[in-house]
Amino acid sequence: MYKLISRLGVRNSLRVNKAGIASASLPAPVTEPEIRHTKIFINNEWRNSASSKTFKTINPATGAVIAEVEEGGKADVDLAVQAAHEAFKFGSPWRRMDASDRGVLLNRLADLIERDSVYLASLLTIDNGKTFSQSYAVEVPGCVKTLRYYAGFADKNHGKTIPADGDIFCYTRHEPVGVCGQIIPWNFPLMLLGWKIGPALALGNVVVIKPAEQTPLTTLYVAELCKEAGFPPGVVNVVPGFGPSAGGAIVDNPLVDKVSFTGSTEVGLHILRNSSSSNLKRVTLELGGKSPNIILKDVDMKFAVESSHQGLFFNQGQVCCAGSRSFVDASIYDEFVEKSAARADRRIVGNPFDPRTEQGPQIDESQLNKILELVESGKKEGAKLVAGGSRIGSSGYYMQPTVFADVKDEMRIAKEEIFGPVQQILKFKDMDELIERANATPYGLAASIFTKDIESALYLIQGIRAGTVWVNCSNVLKSQTPFGGYKMSGFGRECGEYALQSYTEVKTVTIRSPMKSS
Ligand code: NAP
Ligand code: MG
Repeated sequence: MYKLISRLGVRNSLRVNKAGIASASLPAPVTEPEIRHTKIFINNEWRNSASSKTFKTINPATGAVIAEVEEGGKADVDLAVQAAHEAFKFGSPWRRMDASDRGVLLNRLADLIERDSVYLASLLTIDNGKTFSQSYAVEVPGCVKTLRYYAGFADKNHGKTIPADGDIFCYTRHEPVGVCGQIIPWNFPLMLLGWKIGPALALGNVVVIKPAEQTPLTTLYVAELCKEAGFPPGVVNVVPGFGPSAGGAIVDNPLVDKVSFTGSTEVGLHILRNSSSSNLKRVTLELGGKSPNIILKDVDMKFAVESSHQGLFFNQGQVCCAGSRSFVDASIYDEFVEKSAARADRRIVGNPFDPRTEQGPQIDESQLNKILELVESGKKEGAKLVAGGSRIGSSGYYMQPTVFADVKDEMRIAKEEIFGPVQQILKFKDMDELIERANATPYGLAASIFTKDIESALYLIQGIRAGTVWVNCSNVLKSQTPFGGYKMSGFGRECGEYALQSYTEVKTVTIRSPMKSS
C-alpha cells in the first residue's frame, strides 16, 4: 500500500525525502503563514477591485479557505495596463534608467525573495499543496536563479553594426517590446513568475501579471518585494482574478504589446486568436504535453524505474513536461511494470509540510475529479491498473499514486494530458516504430530517453519532435536552458538566452554616410 502520513506533527530539519530534491536540512516552515497581500497591485499601490468582488483561495491539503482575494476584472486590468503604458512612456524614469541599473533591481529582488524564502515557500505550500521541501528547494531557488541570470543580461542585449551595401552606416538597436501581459498557471507559480518577469524586466519591458486563480498569494507577495526593491510605479502590476475575465481583458487590451502565456493548449489557442484580432500582439505560448519516456533494454533497471517514477510523479504529476507515456522495450517490460507499481505503492503521500512527504494533494477538487474520470476511462478501455486508482480520504484532494500497464496508443490515458499522479506504461519492440508512436501526438514539449547506448540515444534525439530531450534524466529545467514546445505544445522559448528574443524588438537604423564630402 502507498504510505499516507499524518496531516499533523510536522518534523523539521529531517533529511529531505526521496523525491530527489536535496540532501540538505530544511528550515522549519511557517505552517500558518500570515497572509499579507490579497489586493490588486497597480502603480506600486494596493487597490480593491472595481467590482468589489472577491474570490477564495483554498488550501488543497484541507479544502479550507486561506483568504479572500480581490477579483480583478476588465476595469482593473485596463487600469493596470494604463499604469504600465505610462511607466513605459518615452522619457519615463524606467525608460531613462541605465540598463545596468535594471540588473541591479533584479538582483535586489532576488535577494529579497531569498531573504523571505521560508515565508514564501510556506505560503506556496498552503496555496498550492506542493511539499514544503519542493517549494523551498525547487521553486524559490528556481525563481531567484532566473532573476539573477537575467539581471546579468540587462546590459548585454546589444544589437549589431551591419556592413550594408552603399554609403550607409547601419546598426540595430534591441529595444523592449513594451507592455507585456503575463498569464501564469498554478503548477509552478513562483518559478514561472521568475521565468516571465526575469527577461521582461531585464530588457526594459513593463508587465501586467495575472496569476492563476488557485495560487495568487505568492505572486502578490513578490509584487510588494518589487516595490521594496525599487522598481518604479507601473513597471510591475499584478491583477489576480479569473482566466476569461482578467486574463481575457489582458489579451483584448490594445495597449498590451505582447502576451506570454503558460497553461493549457485549449486556452493557448483562444489567446492566439484573440491576440491577433485585437492588435496583433506578439504571443509566446508554453502549453501542454504528453511526453514520451523511453526505456531501452540496456538500462540499469533500478535507475530507470526510479527516474521514470520521479519524471511522472514529481509535483503530484502536475507537470507539463511529465514523462506520461513510458515506452519500455518488450524484453524488460514485465520487470519494469512490476517495479514501477511497487515504487508507486511506496510513495509517501500526505501533509505537504512533513519533510518525509513525497506527494501532497492535487491542486483542487475539479482537477482531482478530472484525474479520477481519466483513470476510469483507462480501466474501461482495457488498461491494467497495477497501482492506486482512487482518491485518498475526503478531506483535501489527495490521490493514490497510480500506474497503468498494457496501455495502448489509442486509449484516452495515452492521448490526453492527465496532469496528475498517473503513470502509463506501453510496450515497444522496434526503434522506428517507437519514434513514430512517440511522435503520434499533437504535443511536442519534451522527451526522456534512458539508455547507455549512445548511438541509439543520438538516433532517437534526432527522430523525436520535441522542444527538449533529456537523456538519462528528466524534468531538468534550468535558468540557462531554453524550454518550449514543438507543435501544439506552443512556440517561443523561456529561459536561457533564447528567451531574450521574445522580449525584444529589433530596430534597424540606417544613416547616410558618404565616404567623402561632396
Ligand atoms: P489554464 O486553464 O490554461 O490556465 C492557465 C492560466 O490561464 C491561468 O492563469 C488561467 O486563469 C488563465 N486563463 C484561463 N482561461 C483564460 C482565458 N480565456 N484568457 C486568458 N487567460 C485564461 O491551465 P491550468 O489548468 O491552469 O494549467 C494546466 C495546464 O497548463 C496544463 O495543460 C499544462 O500542461 C499547462 N502548463 C504548461 C507549461 C509549459 O511550460 N509548457 C507549464 C505549466 C503548465 P485561471 O486559473 O484564473 O482561470
Ligand atoms: Mg490555493
